[in-house]
This record gives sequence, structure tokens and C-alpha cells, in this order.
Amino acid sequence: MSADTVDTVRGPVELDRLGPTLMHEHVFVTTPDVQANYGSDWWDEEERVADAIAKLTALKQAGIDTIVDPTVIGLGRYLPRVQRVNAAVELNIVVATGLYTFDQIPHFFHYRGPGTVLDGPDPMIELFVRDIEAGIPGTGVRAGLLKCVVEERGLTPDQTRVQNAICAAHEQTGAPITVHTNAEHQTGRLALDFYRERGVDLTKVVVGHAGDSNDQDYLRWIMDQGATIGCDRFGLDLFNSTEQRVATIAALCAQGYADRIVLSHDASCYMDFFSGEQTQALLAAAMPNWNYLHISQDVLPALRAQGVTDEQITTMLVDNPRRYFTPR
Ligand SMILES: [Zn+2]
Repeated sequence: MSADTVDTVRGPVELDRLGPTLMHEHVFVTTPDVQANYGSDWWDEEERVADAIAKLTALKQAGIDTIVDPTVIGLGRYLPRVQRVNAAVELNIVVATGLYTFDQIPHFFHYRGPGTVLDGPDPMIELFVRDIEAGIPGTGVRAGLLKCVVEERGLTPDQTRVQNAICAAHEQTGAPITVHTNAEHQTGRLALDFYRERGVDLTKVVVGHAGDSNDQDYLRWIMDQGATIGCDRFGLDLFNSTEQRVATIAALCAQGYADRIVLSHDASCYMDFFSGEQTQALLAAAMPNWNYLHISQDVLPALRAQGVTDEQITTMLVDNPRRYFTPR
């Protein structure tokens, strides 16, 4: 048994007890200032908490022991609500620190930091490191990973500042990184080039949403450097169909790449980008498989039917997450 642990909402968990892990799921994605003003149109706190408890309980019953929730600033991270949900569900939830922006940083950070009007150290680094080492203020929960974005617009000046802060926090804490990328524009290349130049251990990087692509040259390029591809949007058919996602993973497993692949849905119990009953119904009709159970119920059987072995499935669901979170 390894004595190493990873921090979760309910405290440290031994790595050997993480079990089957979905590496990119959200509990809630919200827009706090919109919700504070207009939330009464759609948000009922008790209803949402009860709904989340039901959905995560069903996920646990489907055989998943751990989810990694990369909800950070820019996606409405609010740990007290997640703690309330998790108190009622036997599930490990690893949470993240970082910043979610496709280009510009919030004005909150704009005037502070190196080269800004007020200059000084970058407050992002201080916040990220504190979340990982001391815990997210008022919650006692330590973040287990760093989350950021490299999107179609690429490494703009603001985005470069975020990436530098992520690299600095990674260097100080050793926390692994998950970077949201745009598979169509292959921005995983930009992210990994940037990280490599700054000495990041690429085996500690998940290139999120890489699985939206079926370009095996691109995917192998990522994995050949030691990084892991996030095949983490199962059910989001508008980016890539389940059939194609499965075929790509099966092909890569047959080529010996199972140890560089992780699986997930990028689903949420509730995401207010689709607020209101009518919009929720439209979303459910448009993407019926975008929920926490699709992998357990449909994807794993489909992978087996394509020749992926149980051992390879264990590698993707259990061994790779454990390795990712193993301290350096
Ligand atoms: Zn996500």
C-alpha cells in the first residue's frame, strides 16, 4: 500500500483508494454575479443540492469512486455547496484551483502583478499556492490540481500571464495540471510547448478535451511526450460522437497507449449556461447522453466490443489517475 494521499472535499484519501476515477466532471457550473441578481428565476438551493446528491449517488452506484472537479474561478467555484452535497454521498471529489478564461483575465487581477500599474508579485500565484497548501479559505479543503485553458485565441498576453502563474504554482507545489484545450485547433501543442520550456513535468499534465479529436497523429504527439489525453467529453456529441470517440480510443489502446488516456464526460449536476426548465429540457433532448452514467452504461461496453481489454480499462480509470496524483 502506498501511504501517499490526494486531497479531496472530505479530506486526504490514500491513492490506492481512489478506485475508478472520472478525471473531468463538474458538480456545479454557475455564474455567481448573474445568479445573485437573477437566480430566483431558476435557482432553488435545496432543490439543486438534493438533485446533485441523487445524481452523484447514482454515479457511485454505477461503480465510480472518485471524480475530479476542475471548477475554478471563472466557472463559479463555491466549495461550501459541494461540501454539503458530498456530506451525503460516498464519493471522493478532488477539486481544483486555477483560472478559467479563454483570453482576458478578470479585472480583479488586471492592475496587480508584474508589469501592471501597481506591479508587485502576481496575486494569482499566491492564491493558487494557498488553495493547494493551506486550503480554500473557510472550507478546510485543499485543491488537488491546477486548472487552466489554452483556447483557439492561443497564448494572448493575459493568457500567457495565467500560464506563467500555473507553471509557478506547479513548480512550488508539484500539483498536477489539467488544461482545457481546443482539439479542432490542436491547442494542446501550444500548451505542452509552453510547459516543456518552463520545466513542467509533462507526465503531470492532462490535455483536456483532446478526445474531441480523432486525429491520431495529434493525440500520439501529446502522449509521446508523456502527457495524458483527456477523452473527457463523452456525451457531448456536437464535438465528437460516442462512436468515433470509442473507435479512436480503441485504436490507441491497440497501439499501446492505454497508459496515457483518461476518461470522463465534462458533465455537471447543473450548469447555469442552460438555466431554466425549458432550456434544461432542450439540452437533455439535444444531448441525451451528456450525464455521469454514460461511460459506465454505454462507453465501457462499447470499448470492450472494440477489443479494449478489462486491464486497459482499469489502466485508464484507475492506474492513470493514481499516477497523475502521485506526489513527485
Ligand atoms: Zn469542464
